[in-house]
This record gives sequence, structure tokens and C-alpha cells, in this order.
Amino acid sequence: MKALLLAEYSHLEVADLPMPEVAPGDVLVQVAACGICGSDVHGYDGSSGRRIPPIVMGHEAAGTVAAIGSSVEGLSEGDRVTFDSTVYCGACEFCALGQINLCNNRQVIGVSCGDYRRHGAFAEYVVVPERIVYRLPDSISFAEAAMLEAVSVALHAVRVAQLSGGETALVIRAGMIGLLTLQAARAAGCSRVFIADIDASRLRLATMVGADATLHCSGADLVAEVKKLTGGRGADVVLEAVGRNETVTGAIECARKGGTVVLVGNIAPEVTLPLQIVVTRQLRLQGSCASAGEYPQAIELIASGAIQVKPLITAVASLEEGPRWFERLHSREPNLMKVVLTPGAV
Ligand SMILES: [Zn+2]
Ligand SMILES: [Zn+2]
Repeated sequence: MKALLLAEYSHLEVADLPMPEVAPGDVLVQVAACGICGSDVHGYDGSSGRRIPPIVMGHEAAGTVAAIGSSVEGLSEGDRVTFDSTVYCGACEFCALGQINLCNNRQVIGVSCGDYRRHGAFAEYVVVPERIVYRLPDSISFAEAAMLEAVSVALHAVRVAQLSGGETALVIRAGMIGLLTLQAARAAGCSRVFIADIDASRLRLATMVGADATLHCSGADLVAEVKKLTGGRGADVVLEAVGRNETVTGAIECARKGGTVVLVGNIAPEVTLPLQIVVTRQLRLQGSCASAGEYPQAIELIASGAIQVKPLITAVASLEEGPRWFERLHSREPNLMKVVLTPGAV
């Protein structure tokens, strides 16, 4: 089969690889679409250490079932499906609680990190265990389905915020996850959703997908704007989708007394904490990692139109065009959101 292989760091090539073997509990998926994730781009140059070559990356995928293992009962050949990026064990204490994102034996599709190597979906075929596979309604295209992982991440961030409805939410930065988190907060019943970024073109996208206010500022200006919009109070919940000093501090400063700050972004391994604000305003800082069972809800919300993903797809391209797109994403070319590769199309 044809696959986009990371043969060495920063070098992708279309290679001919053997078909993956299908174990009894596995499903062989013929990949129709697979999104390039930020984590793939960080893995590509070796900076994250989680894509040790040789590896086929790609975990945001959808396609059709090409074959099933002998013990698979819920799926059959030809089904349109997507799958979770996380392979959980189903047996540890966290899996027992449904916290599959915290599984002690968690593996991610398309990752090689020293402990394991699991080839991903920038390939004509990928093999995944049945328990992470979800059927897709016909109303969701494969390219849209490639956005499901990101939507699930956004839904999880909003879920751990434990909203009860009617809140004012602020999302910090209108990147991919921010724009989806904004929509997820709306879907969860927030009455007003604001989003802040320093890039005006991203904020135009945010308006398209339903932001009540877009705040083109940061730092003290942002805090002042948020205070103005909330009668001096601050936002009930702030969802931080970057993970740098400046944005984490901004998130904390924009939260109301007793409010919640959900930390989704984690670009920087460490940030400085404005401790006295957190303590004296009694804020709750809540981390959010990946997703844990949000796929069915994500599928529903895309199908119903409550979450729009189409405006966030920058390009749909063939596997052969993959290396070039990785370069463009890696060089941080402006105005790129999701790039979806279509291994099955050529
Ligand atoms: Zn991803
Ligand atoms: Zn587990």
C-alpha cells in the first residue's frame, strides 16, 4: 500500500509499505481523509520526540471498512467510519472510570515515542481496534470527519469546565482548537461567547462560526475589554487554547471571581502563575487533555450543524502533496487551518 512515511526527521516520502495485519479484534480501514494535526507538525522535525522515524503519522482520519478481524461483530465491510486517535487498554483504573484519555497504557495512532510504534493513517490503509471505531452518518463527508478529533478535544475542554448553562465564556486565541471550543461552549449553553486573538483574519473566521464578540487585543487591553463586556465582572469561564505565559496570564486575569480557567494549550512546558489572583479570586484552574468519549457527541453536533467545521478546512490534498503541506505548516505560513490529505483518492 501507499503511505506517507516520515523516513527521517523533516523528510516525508510516499513509500510502498506492506499491508497492515488484521488481528482478531481489529478493523482495517481504507483511509479516505486524514487531517494534519499540529502534533504531527511538531513531531515531523523531531521537536516533540513523539514521531521517531520511520513512522507513518496521522490520527485524524475517516474512511471505509475494508476488512474485519475474526472477533469483530459490530462492523462490516463498506461501513463509513472514523476512529478515536487514542487506543486505550480498557482494563486499567482510569479506563474503568471512562477516563480513557488518562489510560495507563494509552497509545496514540501514528505515534512512535520509544515505548511503542503505531503506524497511522497517512496511508491507503490503517488498522485500528474495533473499540475505538465509530460509524459515520452519510451527512458527514470524510473531510469533515477528519475534524472529529479536534471537535472532541474542544467538547472535552468544555465538559471539564462543568458549565450549567447561561455562562459568559471567553476563548483565548482563535486557532483551530479555539474556534471549535468557541462553538462547543455555545453548544453547551453559554449565553455569550467571546474570543480573543491578535490575528484579524482568524477573528473573521470566529465571527463566521458564531462569536458574539471578537477581541483583537491581548494583555491589559484584553482584560479591559472583557471587563467592559461583562459589567466589570470578568468571564465566568475562560478557555485557554495556546499555553504560553502571556495567554495563560491573560486567561487568569479575565476570569471573574470564583470563575474557571480551562487550560487546553500547552505549547510551553512551564508558565509563570499569577498566584495571588488565583488564590484571592478563588479561581479554579482545570487542565484538559485530549478527549474521553466525546466522539459520538462530536458526530451529532457536526451532523446537526451546531458545530461548523467546513470553514476551518484550508485545503484537501493528495498524499503526494503531503510533504509540501507539511513544509508550509511547519514554516507557520499564515492563514492555514486544517489541511486534510486524501490517501484513497489517487
Ligand atoms: Zn490531532
Ligand atoms: Zn486503560
